[in-house]
Amino acid sequence: MKKRISRNDVIFLVILLTATAGVLVAYERTVTRADAGASASVRVTVDGSVYGTYALGEEQEIPIVQDGVTTNVLTIRDGKADMTEADCPDKLCVHQKAISKNHEMIVCLPNKVVVEVTGSEDNGFDSIAR
Ligand SMILES: [Zn+2]
Repeated sequence: MKKRISRNDVIFLVILLTATAGVLVAYERTVTRADAGASASVRVTVDGSVYGTYALGEEQEIPIVQDGVTTNVLTIRDGKADMTEADCPDKLCVHQKAISKNHEMIVCLPNKVVVEVTGSEDNGFDSIAR
């Protein structure tokens, strides 16, 4: 015996499939946005105290000034933060790769400058990873 599929069943199925697809698309968008680092920012600390927090989604040049002298220049471009200038003797920070992922860091030991990628305040990454 064949079970008859009623018109209502078909409509229900279509709605269900559409809803599932919608959730998947929304999920994918969230993941993509997180990957692009649009909600991420970098926190600059100098000698252990917070110098400033800057959005990775915004192209900008941040001069890090200590005692009236610009010791480092951090450049944010294409969603990545890169130390482009420094007056430290080793220039290790300048040679470090640009950072964009949560908790990646650029450290300038001689100038006591630390640049760290942080997620947005409300995504809870900080509490998980620490
Ligand atoms: Zn350095």
